[in-house]
Parts: sequence; structure tokens; C-alpha cells
Amino acid sequence: MKIYIHTDLEGISGIDNIDMMARDHVRHREALENLMLDLNAAVDGAFAGGADHVTVLDSHGGGGNFILEMLDKRAENDTKPNKKWWGILDESYNATFFIGAHAMAGTINGFLDHTQSSLTWFNYSVNRRKMGELGQWAMVAGAFGVPLVMVSGDEAACIEAKQFFNPVETAIVKCGIGRNRAKLVDLDEARNRIRESARRAISIIKDARPFVLSKPMEIIVEYTRSDYCDGVSAKQGVERLDARTVRKVTNDQLDLFP
Ligand SMILES: [Zn+2]
Repeated sequence: MKIYIHTDLEGISGIDNIDMMARDHVRHREALENLMLDLNAAVDGAFAGGADHVTVLDSHGGGGNFILEMLDKRAENDTKPNKKWWGILDESYNATFFIGAHAMAGTINGFLDHTQSSLTWFNYSVNRRKMGELGQWAMVAGAFGVPLVMVSGDEAACIEAKQFFNPVETAIVKCGIGRNRAKLVDLDEARNRIRESARRAISIIKDARPFVLSKPMEIIVEYTRSDYCDGVSAKQGVERLDARTVRKVTNDQLDLFP
């Protein structure tokens, strides 16, 4: 039983304000330590549930967040030797988890809600359904036939997971207060939730299906300003719908961005 764990930072335990996200902030190291402790709880839960191989990916901001000496020694760290943003995820994995998730752009009380870029992306949709990074990760995994079975993050991210995936195990570690602050769950309790939902997630894999969309897929990105759209709309296969909106049609769930 092989599990692939994708990580982000916004939905990690103990991070209760936007300032901690900045790499030069005095509490940023604490944020990264919490990332490792949440991740290790998920790794531990996966092994407790019956996994025998767990791979982990450092994905926030393209990587550079993991404190490797803190990583559970049983986990394989994906160094992305193929330079793909989904790393070495492939058909050999039985399921994937998403640790530290945030809700899609435009979610009320979603802690640091965004989709890819807080600055430039206003809305993202596939086949006319708005999606965020949870949906995007599940589509990538779905391209390899791998279902998403477990999510940790703030309450809004976990609600979003339930709206997209069934069955899915979720672990709420905080609740957004507006966009830039969150009320934390006690850290020990948060990690218990992550460990337990990761453990339970192994037992739902048999009932879970990969996230596969009907083809061709129509991807629409609405940017926040027309100049962000200018460069993108010149790309091959991308059609400009209006000043801020582009459309792309594809059959490939690994080809999700204009
Ligand atoms: Zn992130």
C-alpha cells in the first residue's frame, strides 16, 4: 500500500495569521516546524492504517519549507528528480493525502483563501465548476488513477474537500476569522485529528475513486487585472474571452494551467 502526501503551508496547525507565512518573519521557523509535525502525524497515521510506503512532497511556494531532520525517517522525501510539480507521483500509488490545505479563491472565512496566486488569479474553473488547489491536486492524482482520500487544513478547506470528494477523511486544525487570521485548534488535538483521519483514510481507499473529469475539459481562468491576462493569452491553445479571462480546452488532467 503506497501513499503519496502533498503538502501546503496555509492550512498547517499553529499558523494563525498571515504574517507567519513570510519567510523573513520571526515566527516563520515555528510555522515550518508545525508543517513537519502535521506531516509526521499524517505519515504515522498512514503506517498505522496499513501503508507500507509513504512519499512526501514539499509543495508550498515550490518547496524549500521542509526541515528534513524533523521528517519521520520512514517517509520518502520526493526531490522531484523529473522537475514536475507533482513530483514522482504515478500509477504505483494507491491514494494521496493533502496536508495543510486552504480553500479556493473567494471562500468566505477561508484562511488565506486563494487559487495558485492571491495576486493574479480571481477565479479558476473546470467544466464550469469553480475549483481551487484541492481540485487541481486531485485532478493531477486522478490522471494517474490515484484517489484523494484525506485532507487537513482549516475548516473551509475541509468543507471544500467534502463538496468534491466522497469518501474523504478530513482533519480540521483551525477556523478562519475573515481571511488573514484563524482560531487554532489545540496543537495536540490537531495532530491527533490528522493522525486518526490519516489512519482511517487507508480503510476508505477501497471505496474511493480517482477524480476524473469529462473530456474535453474546459478550463477558464479569470485574472484580477487585464495585464496579467496579456502574456497568458498569447500562449498556444489559449483563447482570450475578455480583458481578464482566458479559456483553454484540453484532454489532459496534467495540463491544468493556461
Ligand atoms: Zn501554499
